[in-house]
Amino acid sequence: MNSSTTLSHPAEPLARPAPEPVILVLADISGYTRYMTANATSLAHSQLIITELFTAILREVELPLAVAEVEGDAVFLYGRKQFCPMPTDEARRVIGARLARFLDIFAAKVLELSQGNHCTCGACTHLPQLKLKVLVHSGEALFYELAGFRKLSGVDVILAHRLLKNSVPHKHYLMLTEAARADVELPAHLEASEGVESYEDIGEIRTHIFLPRGARPPEAAARPRTTWRDRARWQAGLWWTPLVERLRRLRGGTRELKVAA
Ligand SMILES: [Zn+2]
Repeated sequence: MNSSTTLSHPAEPLARPAPEPVILVLADISGYTRYMTANATSLAHSQLIITELFTAILREVELPLAVAEVEGDAVFLYGRKQFCPMPTDEARRVIGARLARFLDIFAAKVLELSQGNHCTCGACTHLPQLKLKVLVHSGEALFYELAGFRKLSGVDVILAHRLLKNSVPHKHYLMLTEAARADVELPAHLEASEGVESYEDIGEIRTHIFLPRGARPPEAAARPRTTWRDRARWQAGLWWTPLVERLRRLRGGTRELKVAA
């Protein structure tokens, strides 16, 4: 193995014949299904908001983590330990800082999108209530190729997804399994506690839960990497999407009337 190999280096094989050690991360919007269902009439704005929030998170993903998939309500990330581009201690710190930043960036983006948004639709009024949970597990995964896409499989991949359903009584938090705890060094500003989850066919899983503390020093405050293009897209989507939809329906309605006549 070449120590200078990075996760995006061509030398990193797309598929491998055997499982390999990985860290798995799922960043999931708490209450996403309820949010999308409750706001069916303002679906265009719900989707616009979710897209903005995920884009903010995806911009924060960097090595040694990489994106496996965006799964509707969650972003699935992985880090391949055998192809880590930095020493283990550094990787632990970098991953820990990234995970904590996901929570901060998400909260900052929710605030940014809420400010100056005077839309009264269900999606926009519920926007400030959206939270993020970040679930982390370490184990083994088999990398395989499906129609040119890199996919991961294995019991640990299943467990990482099962963690989405848990007994944590919070909405905005980080949860690490005992196995992942050794791979992540989190910043000190997070408030830690322990828990246990139980899953069918897997058994009991010890967990570590981290919550952002309320007060943060200003220099640590997260600012999403918002460009003028993002702002333009957001404003255009906010104002034009419902208008275009209404016009489309109006034109469709006229055509239906003509057909009926
Ligand atoms: Zn709206």
